[in-house]
Amino acid sequence: MSITLRNIKVWNTGEIIDLKVPGLADAYFADTDTVHDGADIDATGLTVAPGFADPHVHFRDPGQTYKESMVSGCRASASGGYTNVLIMPNTLPALDGQTVTDADAQADKPGAREVRDAGFGNVIDFLQNYDAAHGVKLPVRYDLCVCASKDRAGKEASDTADWLKYVPGFDDEAKTPAMNEHPVTAISDDGAAVPEPILDEVLANAKASDLYLIEHCEHHDTGAVNEGPVSHKLGVPGIPEDTELKIVARDIEAARRTGIHVHFQHVSTAISFEAIRKAKAEGLPITCETAPHYLALSDEALLEYGTLAKMNPPLRSEADRKATIAAIADGTVDLLATDHAPHTMDEKALGFLEAPNGIIGLECAYGVCHKVLVDGGHISDERLIELMSVAPEALMGHEATDIAALVEDWAEPAPTGNDPDAVIAEETEKTTDAAAGESLEADRAGKREGVNRLLDLSRVDDAAHVDLAILNTDEEWTVDPESFHSAARNTPFGGWKVTGRPLATIIGSQFMFSRL
Ligand SMILES: [Zn+2]
Repeated sequence: MSITLRNIKVWNTGEIIDLKVPGLADAYFADTDTVHDGADIDATGLTVAPGFADPHVHFRDPGQTYKESMVSGCRASASGGYTNVLIMPNTLPALDGQTVTDADAQADKPGAREVRDAGFGNVIDFLQNYDAAHGVKLPVRYDLCVCASKDRAGKEASDTADWLKYVPGFDDEAKTPAMNEHPVTAISDDGAAVPEPILDEVLANAKASDLYLIEHCEHHDTGAVNEGPVSHKLGVPGIPEDTELKIVARDIEAARRTGIHVHFQHVSTAISFEAIRKAKAEGLPITCETAPHYLALSDEALLEYGTLAKMNPPLRSEADRKATIAAIADGTVDLLATDHAPHTMDEKALGFLEAPNGIIGLECAYGVCHKVLVDGGHISDERLIELMSVAPEALMGHEATDIAALVEDWAEPAPTGNDPDAVIAEETEKTTDAAAGESLEADRAGKREGVNRLLDLSRVDDAAHVDLAILNTDEEWTVDPESFHSAARNTPFGGWKVTGRPLATIIGSQFMFSRL
């Protein structure tokens, strides 16, 4: 049995095809019951694209599963159209490969008991074998990002001896399937920039492991929100705009000096984008991302949403927001990431000084970005998809599924003699005659049947690596955090009317999630 999606548009060629999906993944979950074995679905108006990838998510497992767990975080990913994510290392204990002992558990070191009870000796093993140890199936692919510093404390560089065996290309013969499935593919102290005294050693570790450095380019000792009229109005200490540029400029020089690829997270200021633009023109090995909130909101949002608009780096000025959009439009920004950062609403209620930084983003990122960037006329539908799938997959060392190439290589030709438009016109007429009074919209799938090329995923080579998102690029919908699959609700976008919605994800040629 299988599921057929009729009349679906290939995102970058515009060709209308029929897509046959062999079945449902073991971890499949759904908001609706449209998708089931044997279903024949009219997907007119929908788009098939490579699955989204996010190189910047926080799932809080182990250590803070009251905010988010691997299960809820992975479900949020699938619900947002994502098929691959990179998990940041600020778990508790931190994701640095150091041994977690029974003594740590007895001392109630956060998360240590979870790691020990699941039968593991460090957090990397815990996360790589999470599904088997917990008897669950996680509905998204994921890689791991290892700490730049031990305990993510910024004092000492993490020790490659603790994590090198988890990196592709090292001890490959000794690797378990889980180590290959969820490899360590980047280094970061995300949440803080790598401190100057250990930067050279961290870069040497990046070189020795052939990984890239993901840099949280922001360092400030005081301040809670962007310095400016809004911080003055709120009476909250401000963070100057150049706190970001200082790290960006320092690490551009580091990339120049060492040749190591540095990726800048969530860039948010005009002056940083200008520095990155110049460095890229020189051909330096740097890339950067921004996040939906920096292109959709300025610090004025603090007045409306309170701490739901508190993050690090802080939301900046309206001029910076516009510069962020310009940097996306001119290609300075390589990709969009969410910095999905779950917190409880109680924590977020602590006030501007005490509330933790960050918001969740996976389940409305596409809609918010589409609303601002595509509806706003700044970039095309295709470019947005590229920024959320092809580009982040490339950063993470993966290749996004090339659906157009699959169609060229594997699709069955449309039946000969069938000019799609003529057949549809004829069939439409017949349908109208036969079913007097019935809408022409009825049974549109039937009308097109037999005129499209059919791509049957069960027939393609390497079907196990076909990861797709099914999108409605035009759907208007209202963000409702209560319907999120994330365990968290901390987003300022609740109630926003956005356009563009992920409707399903397909991983390894199997449906993983659907709200079709
Ligand atoms: Zn982050």
